[in-house]
Amino acid sequence: MNTPLSVPAKLPGVGTSIFTVMSALANESGAINLSQGFPDYDPPAELIDLSCHYLRSGKNQYAPMAGVMELREKIAAKVAALYQRSVDPVQEITITAGATQAIFTAISALIQPGDEVIQLEPAYDCYRPAVELQGGLVRSHELLAPDFRPDWPAIEALISPRTRLIIINTPQNPAGQVFSDADWRQLAAIIRDKPIFVLSDEVYEHLVFDGQQHASILRQPELYDRSLAVFSFGKTFHNTGWKIGYCVAPPQLTAAFRSVHQFNVFSVQTPAQYALADYLDHADHYRSLPDFYQAKRDFFRAGLAGSRLRPLACAGTYFQAVDYSAVSDLPDQAFCRQLTTETGVAAIPFSVFYGSGRDQRLIRFCFAKKEETLTAALERLHRL
Ligand code: PMP
Ligand code: GLN
Repeated sequence: MNTPLSVPAKLPGVGTSIFTVMSALANESGAINLSQGFPDYDPPAELIDLSCHYLRSGKNQYAPMAGVMELREKIAAKVAALYQRSVDPVQEITITAGATQAIFTAISALIQPGDEVIQLEPAYDCYRPAVELQGGLVRSHELLAPDFRPDWPAIEALISPRTRLIIINTPQNPAGQVFSDADWRQLAAIIRDKPIFVLSDEVYEHLVFDGQQHASILRQPELYDRSLAVFSFGKTFHNTGWKIGYCVAPPQLTAAFRSVHQFNVFSVQTPAQYALADYLDHADHYRSLPDFYQAKRDFFRAGLAGSRLRPLACAGTYFQAVDYSAVSDLPDQAFCRQLTTETGVAAIPFSVFYGSGRDQRLIRFCFAKKEETLTAALERLHRL
């Protein structure tokens, strides 16, 4: 008998993503799933009809490598209207298989073995593995509760001659904080004259509350030439399962991005791209999202009043960070398991978003849910 081949781990110590783990536990235990971020309602009916229309009218073969031109043109128009930046759909926009593939592709295109990448933590889980798979090294700056504000001099101190990239996520998953123009200016100042790129993950661009405007990197004239901005239709149109996003970057960076993109996906789902192109004419949809999600945030936070869970400020995203220290001394991962199996509500522990595993007794709930789902979850949370 042959000896089984051993598989050297490319990502030692990395297990299954927390979103997969917690959703599976929620399903097994029949818990209300406020863990993994996805809505429990459908995309607009017209968008579904458009997708069916294109499926039935022959749009079923490969899309162009960079994406369907009609969609790239609509995105360019949206970027101009929202962020006052004129981008060339031919050279500066690439349609991707969700933001995850865009992020992986951007990092693969830029990072060489030994390069350093700065990320602000808590950080979304897909950045670090992408860097490490390229032989890069993550240097973390920890943002801490309650306000998760970046300390710019401390970030500047992380910069070395090997620093190649800094990753920003605003609005920020899981803490729900947002960048201001002043933050971008501080970032610009510390990387000025240095060969450092910026990857800006803006998948929650439309989920910014209390009358604030989304501070996109696309509005930053000093930074655009060195930036890749990543977006996802999944958050905007309640269709996370379609996995369609895009990357906006200046021509030279887009060329580098596409050199990898063409080999890790080549092109993405054609009929959905045509459907999204048509549906983007409904600017009222995404312009109404801040109010739509702010109402959900407020409903959920008001429902927590009188419970022993303490919500932190939430300026954006569809996630609410909650301090459970008045309820339990358990570490956050154990608390999330217990909350799921015993209380019947699934959440995500914050510590998984820190390279150090820092545990602040914080968990994250997703409030992109129907009112009845939130009401049922709140009823259970009040029993704690
Ligand atoms: N970045 C952040 C901050 C996210 O929260 C997510 C997923 N919700 C993604 C990227 C990935 O987006 P997509 O599902 O389009 O791949
Ligand atoms: N972005 C989603 C979240 O933060 C999860 C997506 C995934 O499961 N990879 O919950």
